[in-house]
Amino acid sequence: MLSCKEVTQRAGDWTDGTLSLKQKLAVRLHLLICVFCRRFLRQYKLAAETTALQACQHDHHEVEKVLKMIDDAPRDQHLP
Ligand SMILES: [Zn+2]
Repeated sequence: MLSCKEVTQRAGDWTDGTLSLKQKLAVRLHLLICVFCRRFLRQYKLAAETTALQACQHDHHEVEKVLKMIDDAPRDQHLP
């Protein structure tokens, strides 16, 4: 059985889905009996998703900026 410390150390891999099947089962087993780690992992996942969303919005903003620069660029007058 994993300890709470071992579960929290695996939080990143758990959220990323990179744990092995054996590790996943060990974490799930611990979560069945430990409300603290359930809460911790839920919060951890939420924080990771929020961070990912912010990064995504940032990229979206950059794309909009580049598109506007292309729109604003002077066009070649010789083209129809
Ligand atoms: Zn625990």
